Amino acid sequence: MLEAIPLTVIDTFSRPLRDLRISVTDRCSFRCTYCMPKEIFGRDFAFLPPKELLSFEEITRLAQIFLGLGVEKIRLTGGEPLLRRDLETLIGMLAPLPGLRDLTLTTNGALLARKAVSLKAAGLSRVSVSLDSLDDSVFQAMNDVAFPVGRVLEGIEAAQAAGLTPLKINMVVQRGVNDGDVVAMARRFHGTGNILRFIEYMDVGATNGWQLGDVVGASEIVARIHQVLPLEPIAPNYPGEVALRYRYLDGGGEIGVIASVTKPFCGDCSRARLSAEGKLYTCLFAADGFDLRALLRGGASEGEIAAAVRRLWSGRNDRYSEQRSEESRLRPKVEMSHIGG
Ligand code: SAM
Ligand code: SF4
Ligand code: SF4
Repeated sequence: MLEAIPLTVIDTFSRPLRDLRISVTDRCSFRCTYCMPKEIFGRDFAFLPPKELLSFEEITRLAQIFLGLGVEKIRLTGGEPLLRRDLETLIGMLAPLPGLRDLTLTTNGALLARKAVSLKAAGLSRVSVSLDSLDDSVFQAMNDVAFPVGRVLEGIEAAQAAGLTPLKINMVVQRGVNDGDVVAMARRFHGTGNILRFIEYMDVGATNGWQLGDVVGASEIVARIHQVLPLEPIAPNYPGEVALRYRYLDGGGEIGVIASVTKPFCGDCSRARLSAEGKLYTCLFAADGFDLRALLRGGASEGEIAAAVRRLWSGRNDRYSEQRSEESRLRPKVEMSHIGG
């Protein structure tokens, strides 16, 4: 039998829709100061009640529709995706979908040691683990719930042993907070087969008090590592890859730098983001999303939902990072913990 060929949809800048990030919860066990500051996400914060979340069946139905529109990669995120109960069941429903080439997940690693084997068995291809420092006091201050770094490192080892590889380790670099750990992180993961990626601190949301001076740019990060572990740039794996890639001259593997502030990549941005309650965002910096849950729960057909997504993507003209300005920074923006990274 012939497999259905997806009808690719492109936006106003000819960017195809290729990646879908699905947030499965808006809750998190950490309170990273740059993402969910305690003063805002405190005891009284109104997280989504369970009935507001898309069910696994609803997520799977939407995933099928997106795959039919050209999506090839799905990443589960949050909040903290491993907090969603029975996540393995959802993974088992998504993994066999025709057209899906890569099913991954981004996690803070807190529950990874316990879950790596079952995630792999359910059909997950790989994981990305967020790790901002190897220094326990810096790490605990950044996650702001005194979570020890050793347990995340155990999670990384468990994921590696379970074959959720190659692992990506993501470090958000903030000047004066953890930039002193850049070289130690490079040393720790050099030669391990894991790909360390440095992420420039971004002005997402409206709660983290971002200032340009807090950003450590890609060139400075690379220069600091190059001094002790010489690097050379390498070509992207595929057109539109967001990370700038470098390899160690001694054969110790590669690193990536996601330079969304100093070298924005909107021109190649092929990502849509689905929030836990089913809103579709076409940019990380958007104020609001399109309510797909209303269509799902209102009885819309597959064709009607696909047509709505197609319309939305065809009219997309987002390029926030390329246009970043004082004025645009003050506009309302969704929080990162609501739609994932
Ligand atoms: N809780 C999971 C985690 O931390 O991996 C998944 C969701 S988290 C929102 C996804 C990624 O976004 C993490 O790697 C996190 O470090 C990153 N992130 C959050 N706020 C950020 C910011 N202001 N700038 C850059 N990256 C950020
Ligand atoms: Fe939670 Fe991830 Fe945000 Fe940290 S970055 S608060 S772990 S959602
Ligand atoms: Fe994509 Fe928006 Fe980020 Fe640009 S700013 S790369 S359009 S998510």
